[in-house]
Amino acid sequence: MLKSSFEKKNFWIFDLDNTIYDPNLKIFDQIDLRMKKFISSKLNISHEKAFKIQKKFYKEYGTTLSGLMKHYKIQPNEFLKFVHDVDLSNLKKCSSLFKEINQLPGRKIIYTNGDQDYAKKVLNSLGVESLFEYILDITKSNFIPKPSIDPLITYLKINKIQANSCVYFEDLEKNLENAHKYGITTVHIKDQKNIKKSTSPFIDFTFESILEALNTINKTYN
Ligand SMILES: [Mg+2]
Repeated sequence: MLKSSFEKKNFWIFDLDNTIYDPNLKIFDQIDLRMKKFISSKLNISHEKAFKIQKKFYKEYGTTLSGLMKHYKIQPNEFLKFVHDVDLSNLKKCSSLFKEINQLPGRKIIYTNGDQDYAKKVLNSLGVESLFEYILDITKSNFIPKPSIDPLITYLKINKIQANSCVYFEDLEKNLENAHKYGITTVHIKDQKNIKKSTSPFIDFTFESILEALNTINKTYN
């Protein structure tokens, strides 16, 4: 089952935050806080009100940024720069991560609602930047955030990549639904603390960490 699911795959799509690194390293938590700070100072409102707007927009539009652009004409670059200015010292070079990603047969890209400069810093800190041929970030996605995967579909079409050759790793279940519909094999990286395993029909495989996922998949090629 596992072997036949992966044997013809040669295009690997990785979400960035909380997928390629452990959510317990609290990198994304810092971004979350900086979003609140940005909204509070930009709109001149309390942190409490800012947090409500942040979460409301996230729920309604997929990203807080989308809502801010729509309702407050916020310049995306200013927002992206501010919120991604975080401490990445918790991220360490990881030779096993390098080895496992490198071993996957074929091409690899990052697909993120964040921005490219930040993604590069994260990948660089982990020591895996050289393994990815492209970073499909929110700017290159014309600010259409996941869970829509229209920007990804456009990218795959332009590059003549078939959906059934792709595997997509992602920590947020809802971001996998459209990918599965499109014919991409979906791998959910669930937080180890989250005991409940998803039963969503659009999730093909679930692992507790990216390393566990890659290690298991790579073994199917031997
Ligand atoms: Mg993520």
